[in-house]
Amino acid sequence: VILPLPLPHAFSYDASAQETCPEPGTIVQVPFGKQALWGVVWPSNPASSPAPTSTLKPIHQVYEGEKLPPTLISFIDWVARYTMTPVGKILKMALHTKALLRDKKPKRQKKLASLPDSEQSRREAQRQSVTLSPDQDAAAEALKASIDAQKFDVILLDGVTGSGKTEVYFEALERALDQGLQSLILLPEIALTTQWIQRFQDRFGFSPTQWHSDLTPARKEEAWRSILQGEARVVVGARSALFLPFPRLGMVVVDEEHDPSFKQEEGVIYHGRDMAIVRARIHGIPIILASATPSLETFHNAQQDRYKLLKLSNRHAGASLPLIQLIDLRQEAINTVRLQGGKKSLISSPLHQAIEETLEKKQQVLLFLNRRGFAPLTLCKKCGHRIPCPYCSVPLVDHRHRLLCHQCGHKSPKPTACPQCHEEDCLISWGPGVERLADEVAYLYPHARTALMSSDTLSGSASIRQLIQQIQDREIDLLIGTQMIAKGYHFPSLTLVGVIDGDLGLSGGDPRASERTFHLLSQVAGRSGRAQEKGHVLLQSHMPDHPVMQALVAGNRDLFLSLESQERQAYGLPPYGRLAALILSGKNAWEVEGAGRQLAQLLPPLEEREVWGPAPAPLHVIRGRHRWRFLIKSTQSSQGFIHQWLSGWSCPKGVQVQIDMDPYNFL
Ligand SMILES: [Zn+2]
Ligand SMILES: [Zn+2]
Repeated sequence: VILPLPLPHAFSYDASAQETCPEPGTIVQVPFGKQALWGVVWPSNPASSPAPTSTLKPIHQVYEGEKLPPTLISFIDWVARYTMTPVGKILKMALHTKALLRDKKPKRQKKLASLPDSEQSRREAQRQSVTLSPDQDAAAEALKASIDAQKFDVILLDGVTGSGKTEVYFEALERALDQGLQSLILLPEIALTTQWIQRFQDRFGFSPTQWHSDLTPARKEEAWRSILQGEARVVVGARSALFLPFPRLGMVVVDEEHDPSFKQEEGVIYHGRDMAIVRARIHGIPIILASATPSLETFHNAQQDRYKLLKLSNRHAGASLPLIQLIDLRQEAINTVRLQGGKKSLISSPLHQAIEETLEKKQQVLLFLNRRGFAPLTLCKKCGHRIPCPYCSVPLVDHRHRLLCHQCGHKSPKPTACPQCHEEDCLISWGPGVERLADEVAYLYPHARTALMSSDTLSGSASIRQLIQQIQDREIDLLIGTQMIAKGYHFPSLTLVGVIDGDLGLSGGDPRASERTFHLLSQVAGRSGRAQEKGHVLLQSHMPDHPVMQALVAGNRDLFLSLESQERQAYGLPPYGRLAALILSGKNAWEVEGAGRQLAQLLPPLEEREVWGPAPAPLHVIRGRHRWRFLIKSTQSSQGFIHQWLSGWSCPKGVQVQIDMDPYNFL
């Protein structure tokens, strides 16, 4: 029996009191210490730890409803091995035992019912109203054929922003529904699901089952049970939905597959997209990766014919792609917009003019600045001191009346005097932030109805939903947003996008910095001109010659990805090589550093592997914990190597080791 605890091995129990020996997948309650815990009978003992038979304790009770499907058990084993996480910790993500307790007397397993007649006819009616373009139609047919085949296939649905990818995979979804199969759709943001669910309801006439962190425990339990019982046919959720117990999964969709938020960085570190592909392989079913800006990894696999490629090159319903123009911020002459007191605005003259024209035409404007808060720094103009977070090695971000740490959430009021030189009234807010931009907008366009969309100004999905509705209903003229707004929203009246600082995100030592900036800016640009009116994007940059900016203007994504690909190949970076990170952390700086130095002494033979470190992490301290990193680069996987390395080492008590396979975060 595997218990949902951070333990790598199984426990043996006496089942002789049961009528028959519980089969693998059976959910059982067993004594564990002084507790009674729910666990799962495992087909094989992953870390074979045979217990002496004479001391076996009997199983308390057997859950008589559904068993965990064998595909889920294989998946849990696979994820545990790959991420080097104790299998019990992965099981904990998959087992929601509270759902069982509420459902003491489980219903008999229902067959997947055919749709009621009214629903059927409504779907027929809806079906007729969906008209697909020829390339949408061709892609939909190919997807339907994959659903019929029910074999493992990774399909990249590569369509420009606004090309109607959702309608295309809805066709596949319908085919899966007709065949009584379950479908899983992963979306990167909970907030995005609102518009998605609306579209789904309009198309299919019923609501999909949702799975994300915003659900109440009761709704989660209900969803988990109905998925296990095979009643929930369509599940839409965040990456954690990957661990749900589908008995009849027929297809998986990862929408916006390039999105960095599919990578889980806390607790069990895993990449939702990559694990979704593994799950589809275990089930032997097709998986659709949809994106307008595929990740380099996915693009590479499609080019190597490892993935099937379905392309949608036109915007849906005659809408055309937006025109993207660069504004070179190095030219002083274009920065003539002045604020109160003659201060320069973040908005350049050409952008200012375009905003005024768009507002005059009663169309909507989006200004994008990927920086939360009022200003990134609070600086003493006398001694140059930057106010840092007391718990992290980062400066506090100025949120006007208070200072906030974006790493740990620490809040403090803005001091009146410099904490270093004690001079009064010498602290200034330095640099651009969305809140500052909102102030400027209020001054420059006093009659425009504006809204600010940032994780600090909107709390929870209800307020996001409300704002999205207001934008759709054209109650907002000018929207200011961080990356929150870049995701797949559809605003038909939005025709101008202004990017305040296109260069943000290009600095730093992240090997994916260019790719991420390209994706983000393409996605933001893609918000404009999604209906009849042509969209226009003005991109302010200090680096107009950078390959990212040039590719955006030329609309040449594939050229950009090829250049980026060459660079990665030259350095042996993913997808040409594999990375793994080892992060040591602890409250005591010396202890963490010492552990790193100890480990460096214990390195096993490298065998065509490079190991860098130990080095202090760029974010050296987070929440009072000191951090050191190792980075391992190889052409093969490094699990065996890391296992060998750590097995001869006893980790000091105060130090925690985290293993990050295929890291996306290098801080
Ligand atoms: Zn000072
Ligand atoms: Zn902090």
